[in-house]
Order: sequence, then structure tokens, then C-alpha cells
Amino acid sequence: MTTIYEVEHLHQPNGWLSPGYLEVDAEGVILSVGAVRPEGPVKRLSGFGVPGLSNLHSHAFQRSLAGHTEFVTAARAEDNLWTWREEMYRTVDRLTPEAYEAIAALVYMEMLQFGMTAVCEFHYVHHQAGGKSYVNAAEMSDRLIAAASRTGLGMTILPVLYAHGGIGKPVLETQKRFVHSVDGYLKLIETLRERRAAHSNLQVGLALHSLRAVAPDEARAALAGMRAMDPRARLHIHVSETTHEVEEVQAGLGARPVQWLLDNVGLGSEWCLVHATHLDDSEIAGAAASGAVAGLCPLTEATMGDGFFPLVEWHAAGGNWGIGTDSHYSTSTAEELRILECGKRLELRRRNVIARPEAGREIHSGRLLFDTALAGGEQCSAQGGGSLVAGRRADLVMLDPDSPVLLGHGPDTALDAWILSGTRNPVRDVMVAGRWVIQGGRHADEDRILNDYRAAMSRLKTK
Ligand SMILES: [Zn+2]
Repeated sequence: MTTIYEVEHLHQPNGWLSPGYLEVDAEGVILSVGAVRPEGPVKRLSGFGVPGLSNLHSHAFQRSLAGHTEFVTAARAEDNLWTWREEMYRTVDRLTPEAYEAIAALVYMEMLQFGMTAVCEFHYVHHQAGGKSYVNAAEMSDRLIAAASRTGLGMTILPVLYAHGGIGKPVLETQKRFVHSVDGYLKLIETLRERRAAHSNLQVGLALHSLRAVAPDEARAALAGMRAMDPRARLHIHVSETTHEVEEVQAGLGARPVQWLLDNVGLGSEWCLVHATHLDDSEIAGAAASGAVAGLCPLTEATMGDGFFPLVEWHAAGGNWGIGTDSHYSTSTAEELRILECGKRLELRRRNVIARPEAGREIHSGRLLFDTALAGGEQCSAQGGGSLVAGRRADLVMLDPDSPVLLGHGPDTALDAWILSGTRNPVRDVMVAGRWVIQGGRHADEDRILNDYRAAMSRLKTK
């Protein structure tokens, strides 16, 4: 059974089809795309149909912390990522499996409502407080998978290997919830790979927390074990988020983090370098040429005061990049891309910083930002979507042409309008693998998801 959609304006890799015909099979895969109406009944969709975006970096539970750490005290006059981390650890100490799932379900529903159809979940709270494994060693991972299933969001789960509290340092009490041996870690990956039989939109990749938390021999052993199970597995790591981290890795391992990875494990297109905020010229050249994706989390990096990623230099070097919402100060595609571009405009004191002129063509910033993030997200998640062409997963996001954000816009400027202007969210309907999960801006299970989140937040607060 196939369904044929006539989309008023359909995003294509090199422009738009107006209208475009999209044929989707019963498995949720795109059978054909074209300007000619195929035989059979047609469902008409008004507005702008764009591919769903893969969010390349999330710690779902950190959503519960957003807005709770925006103050200073005399004892904490100097506030940065490391002082924020103390607050985050206080949340970790109180997290239950039920709360983990309820918070994730809310965050994943929000992602869908902003046009994201998959998430790379960088998941590190594995065990009970004190470090004892749950009866089901994959309990917390299973909670995230349940939240993704319940909302209909595609998921690339990235269980995180975490072994040390810093280079050569033991873990803190809170961090015991994160720790695995390499063998225990690979066993978890194996278990999660088995979960794919029951979850069609689930992928499993590897994550090293950072070069501070994983020693070189542990990193090599985990990578070898993962590649033996899946040679094409996606590999994620936090790198270079702060100058403090760069200095610690330089002192402990003798090179800056990205340079160390280039020299010691080799980088390639399967890698996602999360944050990669602080890069020198040689790291930009080497990592961009490797095909690795810079995993940018603009609003989280801004709230943490991390610093500016060298976006213009990286993009000009042909570097791939995409966006994640990390600690979920926002789950909005438009907000993340807007602060990325506009932050650079403030810094460089000019307009349209990422778009570069090409003879005979107008290069639009919104379109370029969206398309680049789309490709980077798909590269990091391996979900099989990312483009509305035959053979790809049918992840379709319909933008409402009657939203104030889009009134007066045609296909040439619709993405500029969505990404760079207005405050209303124009995402109306969202399809993941051929199935509508958001319609008219709402999720079918929205009230229950909100209620569960409300209950989880009140328990976290009163404990
Ligand atoms: Zn992170």
C-alpha cells in the first residue's frame, strides 16, 4: 500500500518542486519523487515540505535543569561550564529511571514539534547512585528508547564510555553512575543492538565522553570492539568545548584534543566532534579534510559561555557541521541556527557570514544553514532520512504557509524566514518514516507526556 502526497512546495537537494509528488510505501520509505502526478488517489498538503532534521547531540535529562542555574552568589561569583556541572550533578544524584523517561519524552516531543525527526542521544547516566548496575543493565538506555518510541522520534542511541574524573583522576561519587569497564561497555552496546529488532527507527553508535574521561588505551579498545560489531558505526566524542579542556588534554596527552585524535585514532566521516569550539588552524584543516562533522550546540555553548566556534573558517575549509540541542535550553531548529549565524554577525560585524557569493546565483543564508545542518545531522545519526528523494526514509516536515512567519514568502525565501525571522513556530505537521506524529502542531499523546513530565519535575524538586 503506497500513499501519494501532492506537496505545494517540496524541498529538493537543489531547489524546490512546486508542486512535488511524493510516493511513500507501507514501510515508510520514499518510492518516488517528481513533478508529474503519479496514477492513483492523491493527498494534498499545503505549504512548504522540508526534510526532517536529525538533532546530533542531546542529553535529554538536562532539560529539567534549564532555567534553574541562571544566578550567581557570592560563593559562586565566577560561573562557567564547570560550576554549571556541579548543578547538573545534583540533578543526576536524584534521577530515577521513571524521571529519565518522562523528561526524555517531553524533550523528544518538543524536538518533533520543531521539525526534528531523529536525535543522537549521548547517554551517560547508566547505573544506580553509587555505581551499582540496575537489575537490567540497560535500564536507563531502555527508558530513552521507550521515550523515543512513545513519541515516534527516530533515535541513534550513543551509550557513553566514561572511566575517569579527568586525566589520571578518579571519578567523583556522582560520576560513579556513568562508569563502565570497556568490556561492560561493549556488552551494553551489544544488548542495545539487539533492541533494534523491535524498534525500526533505532540505531546504535559509540560515544567516548571525552579525552578527559577515557584513557587512550580504553578509547582504542572500545573503538576496536565497536568496529568489530559494526564497521560503519557512528562515533561521537565531546572535544574542545572550553579552553580549560584544551589545556588539560594538552598537558596530559601532549596535544590539543582534535590534533590528538587526528594523530592517534584517525578521524573520518563516521566521527562527530561535539562542540569542537576551540580549534587551531592545523586542527581546522585536518579535521575538515577528514570528513568528520563538527557537532555544534549553539545555544547551549552560548549559555555556558564556551566561546565562538570558527564557523566561517571551518565552512570555508569544506568542513561538515550540524546542530544539536545538548542541554535543551531550546529544542528549536530555528533558534539554534539563528544564534549560530547571528552570533557570528555580531562578532565579525557583517551580514550573511556563512553564505559566500557564487556567480549567477543568490545564496540564501537560511537555506544554506538548514541544508548544511540537515546533511550533518544525517551523517551523524545514520537514520536513513535527511533528504526527500527516492530510497530515503519518509521524514517530512510541513511548514504552515499561513503562519505569520511565512506570510508573504515563497520557496526562495521560506527557509530564510523560518530560520532567521519571527518568533512563532511554523511547523504544522511532522511525518517520521511515513507516519504522521505531529498534526496541527500537536502530538496525539501530548497531554499524557506533559502530565508525566509535571509529575517527574515535582518529585525532582521536592527531594
Ligand atoms: Zn554534551
